Amino acid sequence: MALERGPLTVVGAGIAGLACARVLAEGGHDVEVLDRGRAPGGRLSSRTVRGRPVDLGASYLTAGEGSPFADVVAGWVDRGLAHPWTDTFSVVGPDGFRERTSGPLRYGTPEGIRSLAADLAAGLTVRSGTPVRTVTAGPAVDGRPVPAVALAMPAPQAARLLDPAGPVGGLVAGEVWEPALAVVLGWRQRRWPADLHGAFVHDDPAVAWIADDGDRRGDGAPVLVAHTTAGLATRNLETPAAAVPAVVAAVRAALGIAEEPVWTEVQRWTFARPAAPRDEPFALVDGVGLCGDGWHAPAKVESAWSSGTALGRALTA
Ligand SMILES: Cc1cc2nc3c(=O)[nH]c(=O)nc-3n(C[C@H](O)[C@H](O)[C@H](O)COP(=O)(O)OP(=O)(O)OC[C@H]3O[C@@H](n4cnc5c(N)ncnc54)[C@H](O)[C@@H]3O)c2cc1C
Repeated sequence: MALERGPLTVVGAGIAGLACARVLAEGGHDVEVLDRGRAPGGRLSSRTVRGRPVDLGASYLTAGEGSPFADVVAGWVDRGLAHPWTDTFSVVGPDGFRERTSGPLRYGTPEGIRSLAADLAAGLTVRSGTPVRTVTAGPAVDGRPVPAVALAMPAPQAARLLDPAGPVGGLVAGEVWEPALAVVLGWRQRRWPADLHGAFVHDDPAVAWIADDGDRRGDGAPVLVAHTTAGLATRNLETPAAAVPAVVAAVRAALGIAEEPVWTEVQRWTFARPAAPRDEPFALVDGVGLCGDGWHAPAKVESAWSSGTALGRALTA
């Protein structure tokens, strides 16, 4: 028996999928978002660790001056969901040399970066814990015909759903994405300078970036989150805990911390970032759309939002 026709469907409740669904819902369309995760957010990820939210994916937001995303971020700031964090980070080299580097203003969140996804999801029909297995011509989602479907996820995840010989599957087949591990490190007291904010670690085999989670959250907790190099993550993807000692050693060396952390946690990101994000904002072929941070380079939260918004507009049209 043929399945009843479903609504416009967005697969993926990361920021790209939620932005896409919001445009469709605001355009008066019946839209449903399906996500395999326990809660919306994807790589906008926070987990409660030892009683407080810790950001495990994206470290912060940026918003190009005057851009539509800047208006969204300003709304979050007005409602206390986000706050300006810093425009200055440290840079640590192999010889321990440290300098300061300034860039765009970065925003943090008091309740964890996932709270922004929860805000975007409010009022939408989002079905978490709902993995999609196939998207076929028609289009159809797991055999159910839909007017159109948006795949808002890393290309290797989209490729699993699509026929590689089809026109859309061919667009994502073989796209290379790099992994990363996020290691959370907790101490009894803060053991690093109050003005650290975060540090880019150059030429280290284990760690590429360290964020001061207490600083970006605003609660001053003695917690750091280190993101590994793609090389360390690749070697430890099946057993992420095995990478933790190398990360602890690299963080202590980079920041000159004498004590071992009292606890650690690790999160694996198999598809953390595209090796070569595309310039086009999205793709749309035969009612199947592709969006996310693999589009609209450079790959970051702001581009994922812009990509999802652009695809939503195209589908509305
Ligand atoms: C370690 C790390 C650090 C980062 N740091 C920053 C930073 O500091 N600043 C910044 O701007 N960006 C940063 N980024 C990038 C940023 O997180 C991403 O650009 C953005 O979150 C991507 O959003 P998205 O919606 O495109 O994809 P995702 O957030 O990956 O969303 C994809 C969604 O699809 C769902 N999904 C996948 N397959 C299926 C399926 N078969 N069925 C149903 N659902 C499915 C997933 O569960 C997920 O929720 C970082 C990323 C990582 C991993």
